[in-house]
Amino acid sequence: RDQHKFSGIVEDCCCDYETVDHLNEEVLNPSLQELVKTPFFRYFKAKLWCDCPFWPDDGMCRLRDCSVCECPENEFPESFKNYQRSLSADDLVCQEGKPQAAVDRTLDSNAFRGWTETDNPWTNDDETDNTEMTYVNLQLNPERYTGYTGPSARRIWDAIYAENCPKYPSEEVCQEERILYKLISGLHSSISVHIASDYLLDEAKNLWGQNISLLHDRVLRYPDRVRNLYFTYLFVLRAVTKAAPYLEHAEYETGNPVEDLKTQSLMKQLLFSPKLQAACPVPFDEAKLWKGQRGPELKQNIQKQFRNISSLMDCVGCEKCRLWGKLQVLGLGTALKILFSVDGHENIDQTLQFQRNEVIALMNLLNRLSESVKFVHEVGTSAEITMKGQ
Ligand code: FAD
Repeated sequence: RDQHKFSGIVEDCCCDYETVDHLNEEVLNPSLQELVKTPFFRYFKAKLWCDCPFWPDDGMCRLRDCSVCECPENEFPESFKNYQRSLSADDLVCQEGKPQAAVDRTLDSNAFRGWTETDNPWTNDDETDNTEMTYVNLQLNPERYTGYTGPSARRIWDAIYAENCPKYPSEEVCQEERILYKLISGLHSSISVHIASDYLLDEAKNLWGQNISLLHDRVLRYPDRVRNLYFTYLFVLRAVTKAAPYLEHAEYETGNPVEDLKTQSLMKQLLFSPKLQAACPVPFDEAKLWKGQRGPELKQNIQKQFRNISSLMDCVGCEKCRLWGKLQVLGLGTALKILFSVDGHENIDQTLQFQRNEVIALMNLLNRLSESVKFVHEVGTSAEITMKGQ
């Protein structure tokens, strides 16, 4: 029924589906899975209680799993800590199930030493906006089914698509404008894949598992959603490899030399993988975009649209969804910043500066997309085998 098998070059990219699946499963996914567990990459700084600039918040969240488990202080890497903060016993336990529980609003500027605090023009959420932000251990808060659905969730997606990146009829629209739509659609697919791969199958028994029919209904049944997922993966991968000269030497210090060395080495493995360089050296060719007279204006417009999308994340009415929505939109904004701020031959090391949070978001987004591509491919392949066997 569904179209599982994709072949040929991923639209607007430079590698074919088979190569992407192979590289993802053999090289990228295993390294990314390790990387996101390291102390540097598992803590994300987020503003979780936010005023929605568009509508009064009517977000409904049915399950306790919606709420985010904040990090006990003793779990932070040493350099993330704020020594002025006094802790109550309550702060030391996981706050899951208590969405009203106080958010850690204090921050230690030393935690971000070695990293500049520059605004990312592509997003609305910035580390520089230090009030009301808290650290979250992403490992304790996996992106999965939360029960967030209905008009509130629907309104966010509708606003993102309708106001910010309408589905342009393909002939009339230039490639650059379609890219924003494809990135959002690819991210949407990835979120749906994560809901399907970690679903609450039986609420009474608290039984979690895969919901393959949901995956079919929301993603696999629509070839363009699968294509957009692969596109987004390659787009972000290209941003990461383009920023390799910067990311290779970035400061991954968390006060744990053994772990930090591991982080550095995993980053190098990813950035300079010989297999990746041999099979898919330029996953996406940004050099073709934003050329000509309309270039600067177009870039500005798309940047504005993306900032609106970023603001919409404050309206997501489920805390855990908001966390991952914000992280992934910041990750996409960082990828856009990398690919469209630096011309082909400029030295990225001297041109761009990153916030720590941007790098954390970028690599965690790449991991999420990699997981989604892997799951879609596995389910597609097993469905194909089943179909052949029938
Ligand atoms: P939705 O996924 O809400 O889709 C709405 C409409 O958008 C569809 O009817 C279709 O027309 C279109 N559409 C769907 N997919 C695509 C695509 N890939 N490309 C283009 N168009 C598409 N729920 C959770 O359980 N866990 C989460 O972590 C989570 N995170 C979220 C993060 C954000 C930022 C948002 C806005 C929502 C999140 N949700 C999460 C809710 C979830 O995405 C769905 O909205 C919800 O499950 C209801 O799904 P639905 O079937 O109504 O379709």
